[in-house]
Amino acid sequence: MDNQVTVAQRNRAIKKALVEIYGSKNVGLHGSRGTAYGWINIKVTMPKPAHECSGEYRCSICRDLSRAEENKIEQIARDIVKKIGSWIGTYSSDDGYGTQYENMHTEVIFI
Ligand SMILES: [Zn+2]
Repeated sequence: MDNQVTVAQRNRAIKKALVEIYGSKNVGLHGSRGTAYGWINIKVTMPKPAHECSGEYRCSICRDLSRAEENKIEQIARDIVKKIGSWIGTYSSDDGYGTQYENMHTEVIFI
């Protein structure tokens, strides 16, 4: 018998965890198909945190705040994946050092 967690099951588990935190209307998650199969694309919307905003589309503080939130979301995804016995694939960058990146793209949008 095959007890392997499928990509779809993995993605559903991640989405469920994020929905519990951010609310269903704020969480979008879709897996890529074709050559990018296994990729996780996460999009979360949330209110903009209060700060001295320059008013630009994305000021540097906004950018840092959204990046911090994106890191938090990706850590939640990693924890869930570990818990259910699944994994997130990686790829080597072409930076010359073979740095590994996860097949996960996360975007936080302040509304
Ligand atoms: Zn700002």
